[in-house]
Amino acid sequence: SFTLEENDMATKKMILDLDTGVDDALALAYAIADPNIDLIGVIASYGNNLLEQTAKNSLQLLELLGQDVPVFKGLSHSSTTDHFTVMQVSKEIHGNNGIGDISLPEPRHQVQIKDGVDFIIEAAHQYSKDLIVVPTGPLTNLAAALHRDPQISHLIGNVTLMGGALTVEGNVSEVAEANINQDAEAANEVFTSQLPITMVGLDVTLRTLLTKSETQQWRNLGTQAGIAYAELTDLYIDAYYRLGIDKHGCAIHDPLAVGVAIDPSFVTTLALPMKVITSEHNYARTIGDKMRLNEPHPNVRVAINVNQERFVPVFMNHLTNLLANH
Ligand code: CA
Repeated sequence: SFTLEENDMATKKMILDLDTGVDDALALAYAIADPNIDLIGVIASYGNNLLEQTAKNSLQLLELLGQDVPVFKGLSHSSTTDHFTVMQVSKEIHGNNGIGDISLPEPRHQVQIKDGVDFIIEAAHQYSKDLIVVPTGPLTNLAAALHRDPQISHLIGNVTLMGGALTVEGNVSEVAEANINQDAEAANEVFTSQLPITMVGLDVTLRTLLTKSETQQWRNLGTQAGIAYAELTDLYIDAYYRLGIDKHGCAIHDPLAVGVAIDPSFVTTLALPMKVITSEHNYARTIGDKMRLNEPHPNVRVAINVNQERFVPVFMNHLTNLLANH
């Protein structure tokens, strides 16, 4: 597990790379609410929806939450394809618009002209070890940034990603988790780079459950943001029930990555050199790389256990405080 140093909890610069669906929306609110996080930018990825839609969702949510954080466009499809089509199951889980089919005012701001991949590179040079990158969708943008400027793998302080599954089955296939499955080739490049990575996968995220008793607390705040977040999360909880993913609540996958990024003590980890399978059989499986097992300093830590009894209340406190004021 991590060695906690004095300054580990100091304010960090964070970039969120979101394919803004419901749990991304929750992660965004968490990153805004936690005073230890200085959110310097949001990158839009394809994934739960088309890039144009996820970018719009992020802009609308930031405005709902009273934030002036720049949104950048990432890449609109995987590194091995020339287009992207939203999977039907994504619409069933996240709603047709990705954020539970709630309706928000048209965004007043637009996405930045600079592209998201360049933004990662510039931030890496500017902030170096103080920068945490948190991808909660496909790893296409981060892999592209590594291609454009390999030096960033030695600059960025940490990448804490939501994705993968080591000790449990996947959610797309027996072995594949959805984010990794979108672009296993990009994910493999990220995992096998020199980047310091914390993998927050299904091993831990499926243990963090939110229920309608929590969303009712947000609705009861009576604020625009409280009601909106209750509604979009309830659709997600209903989908989890209807599709038999979990009958007790919804997993707060992406918020856990934000939480672990700023407070690694939420999880226990296994240090392991990882790779991602890119051949057809077992496509997108995240697994230890047997060719590198004896590397003295593995670049990946895989979260294999989570203190959900501590994490969920911390998440709730942050969100409720934020939603109460917007
Ligand atoms: Ca996501």
